[in-house]
Amino acid sequence: MTDRPRSSRYDVIVVGGGIVGLATAVQLLRERPRRLAVLEAEARVAAHQSSHNSGVIHAGLYYAPGSLKATLCATGRDAMYAFCAERGIPCRRTGKIVLAADEHQASLLAGIRAKGEANGLRGIIEVRGEAVRDHEPFAAGVAALVIPQTGVVDFATVARAYADEIVERGGEVHVGSPLVDAAVHPDGLTLITSRETFTTDFAITCAGLQADRVTAIFGMDPGVRIVPFRGEYVELLPHATHYVRALIYPVPDPRFPFLGTHLTRLVDGRVEAGPNAVLAWSRAGYARSDIDWRDLRDIVGYGGFRRFLRAHYRTGLAEFARSLNPRAVHRALQALVPEIALDDFVPGRSGVRAQAMAPDGRLIDDFHLVRGDRMIHVLNAPSPAATASLAIGARLAGLVREQRGEAPARPAATS
Ligand SMILES: Cc1cc2nc3c(=O)[nH]c(=O)nc-3n(C[C@H](O)[C@H](O)[C@H](O)COP(=O)(O)OP(=O)(O)OC[C@H]3O[C@@H](n4cnc5c(N)ncnc54)[C@H](O)[C@@H]3O)c2cc1C
Repeated sequence: MTDRPRSSRYDVIVVGGGIVGLATAVQLLRERPRRLAVLEAEARVAAHQSSHNSGVIHAGLYYAPGSLKATLCATGRDAMYAFCAERGIPCRRTGKIVLAADEHQASLLAGIRAKGEANGLRGIIEVRGEAVRDHEPFAAGVAALVIPQTGVVDFATVARAYADEIVERGGEVHVGSPLVDAAVHPDGLTLITSRETFTTDFAITCAGLQADRVTAIFGMDPGVRIVPFRGEYVELLPHATHYVRALIYPVPDPRFPFLGTHLTRLVDGRVEAGPNAVLAWSRAGYARSDIDWRDLRDIVGYGGFRRFLRAHYRTGLAEFARSLNPRAVHRALQALVPEIALDDFVPGRSGVRAQAMAPDGRLIDDFHLVRGDRMIHVLNAPSPAATASLAIGARLAGLVREQRGEAPARPAATS
């Protein structure tokens, strides 16, 4: 993606050309001109999570107030809408509903709303009974929250626009450049890809599904293990897409960081349902049959995973069984929209989440960084990291500035 001659030495190198790494490079370059390169393993940017997701610009409803997810989602969401407007990227602020199937779930809506309001969301309303149908005419359920700030976009298009901005600002994006080794010297770092060697003052790694391994390349202990969870979607056939106006979410299960199977009208007008959350046997396990023996060994050999399994095997097995059974998927969809029939949908695409797991088996919920001398490693950047990417990038750019002892940034860079 870069056709200029490359620098002989860099100020900052970002490893990982997903939406988080690219947004970080954008924010570093908005602050001040820098000799900067992004190294991406695949032949194109945004090849993994950043192009295999639900495409939802999250409002910031469920996150613990004060958490990084909550604060960065709020600023990142607004920055995302502004970036799309500026670059002419199609996106729609459609709003969404969180649908309570029964009175027990309805009793949880007030708590979700309070969290959203504590996170700065205004204009949330709760509707009951028939009033739910004013927002989603085919939705079942006894009550719903209506969240106006939610929207849809294609995050892969956004990521490509970030890459364009990096090059416009004098940075470099090297695709097909997997980092394979790194050496730390008193005066800088040497990064070795399968093609070239780079020297830099500072490195940031945003390697998604490989985050723990890439961190270890730098001699750092990641402290967590990445465990891949596949999310599978089904797609409504064209004759059934009218059942969904915008986005219909269930009340989430508070025990898990995933939001539950939801119905989404994508920015191109198609309607998808999903994703579920099934353990994947490969970090690129987009198909059920994908097995990578090294990945599998890493998962089952991890004490944290065995502890996780002991606590959650029933839910895991149920989710796995449902993933194989179209009738079970159908039941989950009918809980949201009863009119959806078994022959109204077909299997769709899938994505793989990079979920960081602690040695005690906990799924790390918030964004998580590990910092070292001349380096920062992003170990957990789950949803809503695509929504929040510009805010995460601004935060990381601030940390780089702090670690490098640089003067404060130009004010425009924080948006
Ligand atoms: C099923 C699913 C649904 C989701 N839905 C939403 C949503 O609706 N809204 C939302 O905001 N978020 C959503 N997310 C989360 C969002 O997609 C991710 O948080 C975000 O894409 C993470 O971006 P990233 O750049 O950290 O990771 P990635 O996009 O995975 O990028 C990491 C990059 O690092 C590269 N890399 C790895 N190893 C190396 C190496 N050795 N050298 C060089 N490069 C390397 C990889 O090739 C990859 O391109 C969803 C995620 C999934 C999986």
